[in-house]
Amino acid sequence: MNFILFANFGNCFIEIFFGKVDFDNAINDVKSKGERNAYALLVWKHKDCGHLFERSYGNFIRTFSCPKCTQQKNQKITHGYCEYIFDQQFKVEERMKDIFPVDENPEIKKLHANVHIDIFQNLGLKDKEGNLIKLGVRYNGKQHDDSPEGWEAMKGIAKHPDAKPGSKIYKELWSQWRKLIETDKIKADVFENNKGEGYYLIIVDYRIPPNQRQQFIIDEFERQTGIKLDRKDSIDWRKLL
Ligand SMILES: [Zn+2]
Repeated sequence: MNFILFANFGNCFIEIFFGKVDFDNAINDVKSKGERNAYALLVWKHKDCGHLFERSYGNFIRTFSCPKCTQQKNQKITHGYCEYIFDQQFKVEERMKDIFPVDENPEIKKLHANVHIDIFQNLGLKDKEGNLIKLGVRYNGKQHDDSPEGWEAMKGIAKHPDAKPGSKIYKELWSQWRKLIETDKIKADVFENNKGEGYYLIIVDYRIPPNQRQQFIIDEFERQTGIKLDRKDSIDWRKLL
């Protein structure tokens, strides 16, 4: 990781993309609301990959990581294909409450503030109704399946494949899993409710192998939005990692 410091705090790993003036503005903004500096929202740039992202000062200092570079393999492949297909950068981990006006979408209030979509972008293209397309794309791992297999996957990921029914860990995992399924449903519903405004969500299921994902995303986009994309050569998913 190579982050370069523009503003004068911490040790020299971070670049605040818009420089010190914006850092001071962000700090003054939270101060004026009587909040702690840790909540100051800043735009960071990871020098190695060039990705720009918004994180609060406190959150970034805790994680020191670039959301693009810490993506899981399958999210990376999906992200890479989307940037290739649509020929533009996507924002990583865009929060639901930043994508949609919360007052008009009260379901979002049921979600944790950090609930996000893997990648999101205003594409600058219009759908068949003439709305500008706002596209979210998420990769759905097996644990997102509302099925016995999904529950097994959830326990496996949590490294408790043999959790005993009735045990504390089993109950905790079960409630986390139900929450995950509920969150997925709310995300899908909110996108669906806003389709008339040009919001679309593509869900890339784990059953779609990497070598079929480029075509899947194109087909799904064309099916949902009713517009045709320019054809591009297929690229090998291994090049996207
Ligand atoms: Zn990065």
